[in-house]
Amino acid sequence: MTIETPSLNMAEASISLGHLKHNIREIKQCVGTGVRIMGIVKANAYGHNMQKVAETLEAEGISDFGVANIHEAIELKTGGALKKPANILSFSSPIIQQIEYYLHHQIDMTLCDANIMKAASAIAEKHNKKIGVHLKVDTGMGRLGLPPLQALELLRETERQPGLELKGVYTHFAESANDDFTRRQFKEFKTMTDAYETASGKTLCKHAASSGTLLNNPEMRLDMVRPGILLYGYKPYPALPSSITVRPVMQFEAKVIFIKTVAKDATISYNRTWKAARPVKIATISAGYADGYHRALSNHATVFINGKSFQQVGTVTMDQFMVDLGTESDVKIGDRAILFGWEGPCLEELAGSIGSISYELLCSVSSRVKRVFTDD
Ligand SMILES: *Cc1c(COP(=O)(O)O)cnc(C)c1O
Repeated sequence: MTIETPSLNMAEASISLGHLKHNIREIKQCVGTGVRIMGIVKANAYGHNMQKVAETLEAEGISDFGVANIHEAIELKTGGALKKPANILSFSSPIIQQIEYYLHHQIDMTLCDANIMKAASAIAEKHNKKIGVHLKVDTGMGRLGLPPLQALELLRETERQPGLELKGVYTHFAESANDDFTRRQFKEFKTMTDAYETASGKTLCKHAASSGTLLNNPEMRLDMVRPGILLYGYKPYPALPSSITVRPVMQFEAKVIFIKTVAKDATISYNRTWKAARPVKIATISAGYADGYHRALSNHATVFINGKSFQQVGTVTMDQFMVDLGTESDVKIGDRAILFGWEGPCLEELAGSIGSISYELLCSVSSRVKRVFTDD
């Protein structure tokens, strides 16, 4: 018996590559053929497994990938998923010690610092090679990048660096739900890139839109879009109207491992936060906060078992939590409990109930949870 035996999995994330393909096709159809799609696979593809997701994206014709940092970039580059030449952009601005890894693995660098620019060019030149760079402009996100005027300066300097190949320029929006602020950000970005293009007579690959703006502001799609959450089956915020339908790619499941009947007034789990109002059956489910089912969900969540919804009760513990089965129930040991996904509770509602978002709960599904891939 090997550790791969499915019946040994306590918590499992079923990953539907069919749904992923569907979502890619929907996004492609939405943006049309003139716009490149960068598949965002950072954070282990939002918890879905970077290698499998990248392999699927490549099979669907995508050759641009976005990751959080050089570490993830190397994982993607050397992990074996990609069979064809691809552009991998690391979104973090590197520290000096990381530059040689960009060069060695031919990873595209986010550039927003003049010293890093010079150091990167010098290192690449020494090896008679070039590092691809995308310049990052801060138009209001306040995370990485220089403000437009300084960015324009850096852009002009970058172009003169013998060790660098300028492959793009980009910005990131702070609020996909606020059109006024987004428009202001976009205008600043366009003004800056127009100034560069007019003066230099060159055209740059310009990109700005992630999932929200991609859907909401077609004019902001520019040369490339950077969808993340949309690939995985969710809109960045549930109220966003959308012309496309995406399907959840991950279903988070666990098992019923124990059932008991408790008396009226019995309390359940640590700190005794839940008390039985009458005698009820209680099921213990084989997932806890170490699997990414947050402790904050205690007494807030529902789970689906055999197509029916049940209330989660008491504090979520590290490895298990409990649900109230009521008095009549045919649930039995070994049944699947669906924590969220296409057959179960809505992830966005679950996240909303604890002040979180779909992104965070997807990324929280821990490495202890076995990913199982299906083609449908
Ligand atoms: C994460 C990220 C994205 C993807 O955002 P979604 O809202 O998931 O589409 C795009 N661009 C950058 C720079 C990011 O960090």
